[in-house]
This record gives sequence, structure tokens and C-alpha cells, in this order.
Amino acid sequence: MVNDKAIFVLIDSELTRQTNGFELIASENYASDQVMRAMGSILTNKYAEGLPGKRYYGGCEVVDQIEQLAIDRLKALFGAEWANVQPHSGAQANAAVMLGVLNSGDSILGFDLSHGGHLTHGSPVNFSGKLYKPHFYGVKQDTGLIDYETLEETARSKRPKLIICGASSYSRDWNYERIRRVADEVGALVLADISHPSGLIAKGLLNDPLKHCHIVTSTTHKTLRGPRGGIIMMGEDFENPFGIKTPKGDLKKMSALLDGAVFPGTQGGPLEHIIAAKAVAFGEALSPEFKDYGKQVITNAQVLANEMTDRGYSIISGGTDNHLMLIDLRSKNAHLTGKLAEETLGKCHITINKNTVPFEERSPFVTSGIRLGTPALTTRGFKENEMQIVADLIDRALTNTENNSILKEIRNDVKSLSEGYPLHA
Ligand SMILES: *Cc1c(COP(=O)(O)O)cnc(C)c1O
Repeated sequence: MVNDKAIFVLIDSELTRQTNGFELIASENYASDQVMRAMGSILTNKYAEGLPGKRYYGGCEVVDQIEQLAIDRLKALFGAEWANVQPHSGAQANAAVMLGVLNSGDSILGFDLSHGGHLTHGSPVNFSGKLYKPHFYGVKQDTGLIDYETLEETARSKRPKLIICGASSYSRDWNYERIRRVADEVGALVLADISHPSGLIAKGLLNDPLKHCHIVTSTTHKTLRGPRGGIIMMGEDFENPFGIKTPKGDLKKMSALLDGAVFPGTQGGPLEHIIAAKAVAFGEALSPEFKDYGKQVITNAQVLANEMTDRGYSIISGGTDNHLMLIDLRSKNAHLTGKLAEETLGKCHITINKNTVPFEERSPFVTSGIRLGTPALTTRGFKENEMQIVADLIDRALTNTENNSILKEIRNDVKSLSEGYPLHA
């Protein structure tokens, strides 16, 4: 059956890598067997441009049911009024939203990339910074918390059409209500990009953006633990979605705009095998066990943050409300860079990413920080005790960056602890 040895041997090597190491990249997780079965299915053979019941191709009667199930489950999971499950990724979901609600040259206001935001929130190297006029808010230097005053002042002076909240490396919850208030004042739409914490939000473990933000986007592969992909949702039929005085009843107009911005606006045929896998993941996330998982993800992150703090590492904002933390390494050792930390931990099979810290003085290729997240290790079954061991091993590695025999010992400890926790359930 399988004769492309080159690729399948490499896939086996990657399985070994994923099995024998600690995965602490905050945006990664382990999808379940049934999610992967759906992804690897014959659904990849089908073209289905359009939406369920409104396709441009014949033979869609089965994929229509699959996509409708994905939509219905997603709406139930978040209590959404409307959803589109076709975006190929989080970046595609954001591209579709911006194409749908903005004209090129419009001003947007997003969270600064160097403070923890995402490329698609206005970075000059991304479509969002090239096609639109980006402005940014960030965190306060002394607290590491979102600077809502600056956000409000910038919204009032720049009058953006779209305010984007959500981040890739911010460990605290968001005040969506406050952002919506200033958006209403200046006539802006609010987009919450919950790509990172969506699995926690789905189970009520963090503030609910759907109550306050006009549009919500997410990936499906981070805390939501599904296949790689994106989604767009709207929570309510807001009275004033365009900042123009209109009566209620705009959800229909707005959803047509967003559906059209996904296809034909920015994508061609949807990936029905991925949509089936999304439906499986939404089904898993609807189960009560997924709430236990989410709670454990947060507990594990808080234990890890405390343990790292006790060992002299400074956590930006002082702790975490969610699944991740950003560590400023300078507090531990002024010469320890994010790059060296990532390389050293890599030698021990502890996978993390270097990350700029707010008000960073080093280049993004070097950085003064690292980002740690607990979704993947929690899926494997790690709990509080294991997180203490993880913190200990990380600290031992980072205080012995030049000592290869100690790093080798740590690698063996990582492997033997990992062996007790199989990847898939
Ligand atoms: C991960 C992420 C994305 C992009 O997701 P991709 O699937 O990698 O395109 C968008 N926004 C935020 C905030 C993210 O963290």
C-alpha cells in the first residue's frame, strides 16, 4: 500500500520526535485519532465550492451533511448565531473578515506584534498591514497588562473601521466589553481573534467575546485540539454592525458578506476532509470531559508559571489566566537570550519558542524571552506534579547551557517521563 518510503520514513521520525519530547509550544496540541482519521479520508477527493445546499458542483449530498454538522456543532459549542467553517487557517479567516468588512486603505487598530499580537493584525509584512492602514496598542511597561487607555485614545484619534483584539502570546484575559464601548463611540467593528484560547472560551473558562464583539475568528488546532484550520463566527444580531444607524436584522446581511468573503472572496473549494475533522473536534469539545481538560490546561500553566517564578524567572504580567506564559529571561541571567534558550532546550527535546518581550531590545531572531504553553502536555495527561518536574528540567537546562553531559542527562529524563504518557487516546 505505502511505497513512498522517503515520506513515510520521515513521518515515522516525526512521530518519534513528538513521542519522546516535551511539547511546550503554546499553539500546538495533539489531535485525536478520530480527528486524524477524518482528515486522512476520501473526502479529500471532493470539490464542493459554495455552502451546504448551495453548491457549484454535483454529488455534494453527503459533504453537505458533514459541513452542516460542523456548522451546527460549532454554533452549539460557542452559542453562536452564525458560523463559517471553511477558512483553511486562522490567517485565512482574518483575511476573509477584513476583505468582507473593509475597503483597502481603511484604518485598523490591532495589538502590537512585538507585544504579543499576530501578523494578521496589521503587520507591515502581512496583507493586513499592506492593504489597510494599521495602528497599534500594546501592554503597559510596568504591569505587562493591555493598555486600554492607549487603545481608547488611539481609537478616538485614528477612528479605525475595525478594532482587533486577541493575541498569540498574552497570558491574561480580555475586557471585550470595554473595547466594544469605545468601538461604538467611534463607529468601529470589533473582531476578536481567539485563535489561541478558543478551547478555553468554548467551555466558559475565560470571558466570552461573542457577547460583545461583532465577529470572532479562531484557528481549530490550538487549544481547540482539532485539525489545522480556521473558523468565523458571529454571536448576535447586533443592532449596529457597521457603525451606521440601522435597525436590528443585519446578521443576515453581514453573514452573506462574510460567507462571500471566504468563497469566492479569498478561497476556492473548501477542504471537506478537514471540515469533517473540525466536526469531530467540535463534537469532542462539546463533551463534559473537554471542560476538565481545559481546567487542567489552566492549572498546569499556573503551576508552571509559579514554579518558574520560584526559580527566578520573571513572567510578563506576573502570571497567567490561560494556557500560556511569556518569560522574560533577563531577570534570571542578563546574557541568556531566547535564541540560546530555544537551542539549549531543543538539545534536551523540550520544544519551546523564543519570543520577543514587550519593549524588546534584541532582534526577533535573538529575543529576550520564551513562550511556554501547556495544551499539548495536558492532552498527554501531565498534571501538577509533572509540571513541577518540567519546570525543574527547564531550569536545569537553562542554568547549564554549556554543559553537554548535563543536557544529555536531561534529555534522558525527558524521554523516560514521556514514555509513561502515550500521544493519543
Ligand atoms: C495562530 C494564530 C493565527 C493564525 O493561524 P494560522 O492557522 O497559523 O494561519 C491568527 N491569529 C492569532 C492570534 C493566532 O495566534
